[in-house]
Amino acid sequence: MSCRGLNHDYMSTHKKAFVADMHCDTVLRMMKGFDIASDDTSSHMGIPRMQQGGIDLQVFACWLDTDTPVEQCRSTVDEMIDTLEAQISRNPESIALCHSADEAEKNEAGGKISAVLAIENGVAIANDLANLDHFYNRGIRYMTLTHTASNDWCISSADTNQAFHGLTDFGRDVIKKMNKLGMIVDVSHASVSAFEEVMKITTDPVIASHSCVYNLCPHDRNLTDEQIKVIAKNGGLIGINFYNGYLSTRWMEVDDSIDTFYSDEIDEAYRLYPISRKKRKEFIPHVYKAWREAIAKVEVNVGTVVDHIDYIVKLVGPDYVGLGSDYDGVHRLPDGLDDCSMVPNITAELLLRGYSEGDIRKILGGNFRRVFKQVCG
Ligand SMILES: [Zn+2]
Repeated sequence: MSCRGLNHDYMSTHKKAFVADMHCDTVLRMMKGFDIASDDTSSHMGIPRMQQGGIDLQVFACWLDTDTPVEQCRSTVDEMIDTLEAQISRNPESIALCHSADEAEKNEAGGKISAVLAIENGVAIANDLANLDHFYNRGIRYMTLTHTASNDWCISSADTNQAFHGLTDFGRDVIKKMNKLGMIVDVSHASVSAFEEVMKITTDPVIASHSCVYNLCPHDRNLTDEQIKVIAKNGGLIGINFYNGYLSTRWMEVDDSIDTFYSDEIDEAYRLYPISRKKRKEFIPHVYKAWREAIAKVEVNVGTVVDHIDYIVKLVGPDYVGLGSDYDGVHRLPDGLDDCSMVPNITAELLLRGYSEGDIRKILGGNFRRVFKQVCG
């Protein structure tokens, strides 16, 4: 892989670093039969490409829709954990489950990728604190509090009609219990109000596992300067999301304009096929064609991702930013980051911009290792 006339051997810098990606949704693909050992390019992940990309630690999120019936939440997450565990156990020479920073170090020394488990959407605990113990014991080491719709106790960033201020009393108990267990609180997807409530209570550093900078792309999923400063003060960390719609204002605007123009047809497609993007595509091919043509004109590349990293470094220093790709959870990625094998392009870009090897190591994974060690041991 070459990168824009770079003389420096960026791969050697990259290989020396501990590289951690704080978020992917590949477990959902595994549930539909994807094999992590394969080179199947319908996924953004896979062991061969993770090795190529020099990934040392990958967080695998078990995602649940907010609509999941309460009695199915725990068993659905258990099934996802079972699926991931089964796939990992079939590849013991290259990947291993990981519950602590110490285990991550051991795995790295043994040439194995560390797989860390997470939950995306607090709806998973079915409004019962005992389920936090259960999931901790099953290996879950961070939980994203909410998703694109608010749940019973935490308000989502997308919620424009908030039923309470950020967290309920039960929501506050969840944060206290997570602190006690040593499970990292993830504020990605949380509203500003929920963020404020979390930061009043938490005694541990928090993460925003897969979010970007609001000032560079004003999406509700992104973090304001004030929030970034609060996370830095807390000793926490922001994993930059690779989704074009959170990275580029122009891309977001073009995407929105297509949504608005074809809103009736898109609504109908979602009504008929809420789950299957493939079926929606078949139902309204002309909309997808128009969308592809429009967004092809907007350039988003590795440099755009590094702009977000750079912004946080300039605002609060190099200790509070990392990577949160959202691979397999998003449908449009920057040029040069099409899948996990291309993560070294970020190292190349950071070197081009004059970053020191020390700071690059922090950004690629050192910062996550620090928080992981502090919260999970
Ligand atoms: Zn997400």
